[in-house]
Amino acid sequence: MPPKIIFEKSVKGRRGYRLPPLDVPPESLPAGMVRETLDLPELSELDVVRHFTQLSQQNFSIDTHFYPLGSCTMKYNPKVNDEISGFSGFAGIHPFQPAEQVQGALELMFSLQEILSEITGMDAVSLEPAAGAHGELTGLLMIRAYFRDKKEDRRIILVPDSSHGTNPATASMLGYDVVQIRSDARGGVDLEHLDKLLSENVAALMLTNPSTLGLFEENILEISKRVHQKGGVLYYDGANLNAILGIARPGDFGFDIVHLNLHKTFSIPHGGGGPGAGPIGVKKYLEPYLPIPIAAKGTEGYFLNENYPKSIGRVKAYYGNFLHLVRGLVYILAQGPEGLKRIAELSVLNANYLMKALKPYYDLPYDRLCKHEFVISANRQKKNGVRALDIAKRLLDYGIHPPTVYFPLIVEEALMIEPTETESKETLDHFIDVMKKIAEEAEKTPELVLEAPHSTPVARVDDVQAARKPNLCFNIGN
Ligand SMILES: *Cc1c(COP(=O)(O)O)cnc(C)c1O
Repeated sequence: MPPKIIFEKSVKGRRGYRLPPLDVPPESLPAGMVRETLDLPELSELDVVRHFTQLSQQNFSIDTHFYPLGSCTMKYNPKVNDEISGFSGFAGIHPFQPAEQVQGALELMFSLQEILSEITGMDAVSLEPAAGAHGELTGLLMIRAYFRDKKEDRRIILVPDSSHGTNPATASMLGYDVVQIRSDARGGVDLEHLDKLLSENVAALMLTNPSTLGLFEENILEISKRVHQKGGVLYYDGANLNAILGIARPGDFGFDIVHLNLHKTFSIPHGGGGPGAGPIGVKKYLEPYLPIPIAAKGTEGYFLNENYPKSIGRVKAYYGNFLHLVRGLVYILAQGPEGLKRIAELSVLNANYLMKALKPYYDLPYDRLCKHEFVISANRQKKNGVRALDIAKRLLDYGIHPPTVYFPLIVEEALMIEPTETESKETLDHFIDVMKKIAEEAEKTPELVLEAPHSTPVARVDDVQAARKPNLCFNIGN
């Protein structure tokens, strides 16, 4: 039985408030503006509080459940980030306030730009893009502007088949021809195939690294050299920087543009479509094309520099999701350089620990040292009819948010697992036990897994129908 929605709990005439009798003459609204029917639910305050509190408890969240959602870096978000971003000096200022009144906020943006340049090995940073994919769009717009300037009409964007789906999607949104590079047997870019595809018509190669297989590209320097030889630009999808933070820098591999997901690596709440922050860093030769404004330091203090005649313009109102920039900087400063490095070490250690422990029970298509995540396959379980989706649903019964499933596409029945560095050994061991148990269930009692989840208010929804024809209305009496 699904829980009742708030309209079903309504009782005619019940009120959640009591007002004192009117002590001024009543004034009525113009007749034409008064609504005759307004079917709002009628409940007491307590009923409303319970309804929404109970609903909120049906959610899975990082604060309540282990959440190994591959590629999404659902790590713990320290509460101090929210506390500080809520300071009135940050939360209460207006984007149109003159620079001299918001020096602190501008200094914060400037510092974050400098720090992100250092972390990525880039020369300049824009904080404007509001998400990872938005950073990609910004980067490709800059690449387009750059080649226009050079009077070169390059039509192709190369993406390895292990890249994140937003890479080809962004490139085709801009009208580029997207060409896929095959992975080799070790899960890296197939260099021979790359050579066949490279030409003076290639605008850029977009590399997700670590790839969606959780693997570090072993030939990254060679790829970088070959793309540059043909005059192409190297784009680094750094959404998953967790794995290399403080240890290696995309700028040092020869990359010209990188985007980061502050809302992954730098611990900002995300998921559910909330706002993100996808700053991009670029090498000097691309700096003139950055979106404006850029926080800058002048003789009279900090200011927003709009003096970039070749800029691609604005990609977001004002200058990015400012309070997320606050959270990101607080997190970075709280960690310090050693702490950032420790994040990379522990996220990689945790992922490898899980990968080794799960190997006896699930297929592991790329069996080599992984970075922050890894991909197993439910192919073995499929022989009993149990698929990756069923395993994901069964995990809900054990109080664990499922990993990413059916991605990357190059692995059949993929389960992409990212524990992050913030989980304890006890939590990881519990997850291993549960995955072992589910593998056993898939052998002995497959129907238990096939019919999961058994513990949630709604079991299985029709995903395709939900995506193609969402019906989000509730019609009383229907
Ligand atoms: C999450 C992710 C993106 C997209 O980021 P959004 O903020 O969701 O737009 C791009 N690339 C990789 C590798 C990612 O993990």
